Amino acid sequence: MKNNRRDFIRKSLLGASAAAFLPVTMKNHTGNPVSAAPELPTRVLGRTGIRTPLISFGTAGINDTGLIKAAYNSGIKIFFSATYYGEGNNERILGEGLKGLPRDSFIVGTAVPEDRLDRRSGLFTTPFDINAYIKKADACLERFGMDHVDFFLFPYASKRDTIMNESLIKALEQLKKQGKTRFTGIASHGGTEEALKAAADAGIYDVAMIAYNFKIENKESLDSAIDYAVKKGMGVVAMKTTAGVFRDKSGQGINTDAAFKWVLQNQNIASIVSGMTSLEQLEKNLAMANNPELTEKEKKELGIVSLNPEYGLYCRQCGECLPQCPYNLDIPSIMRSYMYAYGYRNLTQALYTLEDTGVQENPCEKCSTCKVGCKSGFNVKGKIADISRLTSIPQEFLV
Ligand code: SF4
Ligand code: SF4
Repeated sequence: MKNNRRDFIRKSLLGASAAAFLPVTMKNHTGNPVSAAPELPTRVLGRTGIRTPLISFGTAGINDTGLIKAAYNSGIKIFFSATYYGEGNNERILGEGLKGLPRDSFIVGTAVPEDRLDRRSGLFTTPFDINAYIKKADACLERFGMDHVDFFLFPYASKRDTIMNESLIKALEQLKKQGKTRFTGIASHGGTEEALKAAADAGIYDVAMIAYNFKIENKESLDSAIDYAVKKGMGVVAMKTTAGVFRDKSGQGINTDAAFKWVLQNQNIASIVSGMTSLEQLEKNLAMANNPELTEKEKKELGIVSLNPEYGLYCRQCGECLPQCPYNLDIPSIMRSYMYAYGYRNLTQALYTLEDTGVQENPCEKCSTCKVGCKSGFNVKGKIADISRLTSIPQEFLV
């Protein structure tokens, strides 16, 4: 069985016509055809009614359309991009990878940010501009080469006031009415409990993509917020599930299968959004999705990594460092950039994230001693010194 699946994926990756691999079709809840094989275990994504495999494809690191087709042909049906991945280039690649496939046989979502959102406070700095946001969404569709996506997500959602903002809600409603998206949602990296409850109360948001992994410390209250959202009909998918993949920048990895399985123990999480960049990773994820039970050995391994604060590249995005830094650095975003670089090994994404913070060279040189006490035990000053070097590398070396 395993070899058959492997052959299947490899043939697909080698560029054979996707149509040749299209399996027999069945109907989904809307009566549209959906590819039926190979079967992967699924869960329902809230009121969207979509049955999603336990693994979805996060496209942040892709530059290969063959891998997208291989994932599709091996049963993965949901693909997530964002306009800030490669400044829109990622949406182009994903659109190219899905080109020619029956539009009803896959689900595609993208996160469209709003420039007026201050990521430190989670609030809009100037009034939200509906027309400007819709133009951004139109540009996405053009890059995808599609007349609609399935999800438009509002990213960096953390504050109730922002999520409930009338103009933002109007813009999302218009996108739905104009048929440019089937569903809307939020993506939240931090402040997630507040974000989930607000999104569920607003009623317009169908899905939430949230950071969720074995390193979270507020599991009980976060689980309760997830439950609240699910009971109100939202579908929840999880990102940042491996907490940065590596224990530290030296590259000693964690057991990623165990990390995924830990997330899937929460039945309210419909799917994991895994950033895949290789065939090997795809195969490993598929094997995990077919056998998601967390073993005692895996639990123990995760426990060891989880308890030691020095292990892991994952910043909890709690924001407690923000008021401590006299230079008002956006430390949570800089730490995310650090994780993209040293964890996901995605330097382009790391640089874009860093550039958004306004950091150009090591901003910590002005301080002899760091005044920040990080909740995760990070040496914030040292990490900023490391990652800020990225700004001196010409962009063309990173693409
Ligand atoms: S205090 Fe530490 S964990 Fe919290 S946001 Fe700042 S760097 Fe991240
Ligand atoms: S060393 Fe850097 S992070 Fe720490 S207080 Fe100074 S500027 Fe802020």
